[in-house]
Amino acid sequence: MSSSPWKNRFDESLMRTMGMPLRFLVRGEGAWVWDDEDNRYLDFLAGIAVNSLGHAHPVFVEAVSRQAATLAHVSNYFSTPPQLELAERLKRLTGAGDGGRAYFCNSGAEANEAAFKLARLNSSPTRRRIVALENAFHGRTMGALALTGKPAMREPFDPMPGGVEHIPSTIEALEATIDDSVSALFLEPVKGEAGVIDLPPGYLKRARELTEQHGVLLIIDEIQTGVGRTGAWFAYMNAGVVPDAVTIAKGMAGGFPIGSLVTFGWASDLFRRGQHGSTFGGNPLATATANAVLNHIEEAGLVENALVRGEQLRAVIREIDSPLVEEVRGQGLLIGVGLREPVAQQLSDAALASGLIINAPNDSSLRIAPPLIIGDDEVREFGNRLRKAFALVEAL
Ligand SMILES: *Cc1c(COP(=O)(O)O)cnc(C)c1O
Repeated sequence: MSSSPWKNRFDESLMRTMGMPLRFLVRGEGAWVWDDEDNRYLDFLAGIAVNSLGHAHPVFVEAVSRQAATLAHVSNYFSTPPQLELAERLKRLTGAGDGGRAYFCNSGAEANEAAFKLARLNSSPTRRRIVALENAFHGRTMGALALTGKPAMREPFDPMPGGVEHIPSTIEALEATIDDSVSALFLEPVKGEAGVIDLPPGYLKRARELTEQHGVLLIIDEIQTGVGRTGAWFAYMNAGVVPDAVTIAKGMAGGFPIGSLVTFGWASDLFRRGQHGSTFGGNPLATATANAVLNHIEEAGLVENALVRGEQLRAVIREIDSPLVEEVRGQGLLIGVGLREPVAQQLSDAALASGLIINAPNDSSLRIAPPLIIGDDEVREFGNRLRKAFALVEAL
C-alpha cells in the first residue's frame, strides 16, 4: 500500500467520474462515522438514504456474517431460502400481495433498467411512448439515464434508448400527455436528487387515475423514498395509491448492494422466462441481509420513528430561524431545505467542518437523510451542529 496522502492516491488511481471525496472515512457506529484523523461526524446523509440502521448495526453485522458463513452465492439455476423469503416479504410490504412478483438485482439503476424493459413489454406499434418528469433522477446506466430528466447528464452519452419524453411536474402536463399511446409513466414520489422536491398535492392520485384509464404502467421509483424513509413503507402509501410496479434499492439492505423491481397485478405477467437476469441478483448473501434489515425495521417500529423524528428535525430547522431558509420540504426522514440564496455548498461544507454530514443536491437545496434509528441524542446533536453551520455561513 502506498504511503502518499489519500487524496493523491485517489487522484492517481480512481476513474475521473466523481469529484474529490471530502474525507477519508475509516469506521462507523450508529449514526456516527470517523475519519482517518479520528474526527467524528454525525452522519445525516446515511450513504444517501442507504444506511437504514446506521453503521455497524448488530443486526446487519450478524446477518452478513452468518449468511457469508452459510451460503453466499449460487447461480440463478438455483433458488435459496433467503431469496424466497425476501420476495414474499416484499410482496407483503409493498402491498402487491398475491398477484405480485419480485425481480432482484444489485442497484437502483438496475432496478430501473428492469422497469424500462417492463415498459417495453407493454408497448405496441401504437403504444410506444414512455413518460418521465423533468429534473427526475433514475440512475446512470443508459436506460435509467434516458429516464432521467436532466439533459446535461444525458447529453455527453447521446444517443439514448428511444421513446422517452420528459414533462413538467404539473397535473396539467400529466392530463395533456397521458393517453393510449403511452406504455409507462415513471415517477419519483419525492424528487430526491433534484433537491427533495415534493409533487403537487393530488398528483399521484391523478397519475393513477389517468394511467389506469389508458392502460399505462404506473412505475414508481422508490429507490430513495422507499423502505420506511418517508414515514410509510413506501411513499405512494402516503398518497393512497397502488402502482403497477415499484423500484427499490438504497435502504433495502442497510448498505449491502441490492435492488428490486416489484410488480403488481397484470404487470406481473409481462416478463417471460429468459427475458432478463443478473448474475449477482437475488443471491443469498444480499437477500439474507435485506431480510434481516427489513425485519428489524418492522420489529423496532422504525417506519413510525421516521415519521416522528422527521417532525422533530423539521421543528429543529425552523427553530434555528435562519434568514437563509425559505422552506422545508420532503416527507419523514427525507428532508430538503430550500434556501433563499445559492449557498447550499457553503452550508454543507460548514456543516462538515462542524461535524455534521448532509449534502447539497443543488445550489439552493440541502438534503438531510439520516439513518432510521436516530433518537433524542442525534436530534439534539443535529440541531447544535446545523445551527453552527448556519452561523458560519450567515457571517460570510
Ligand atoms: C439513487 C437513485 C437511483 C439510482 O440508484 P443507484 O443504486 O445509484 O444506481 C435511481 N433513482 C432514484 C430515485 C435514486 O435516488
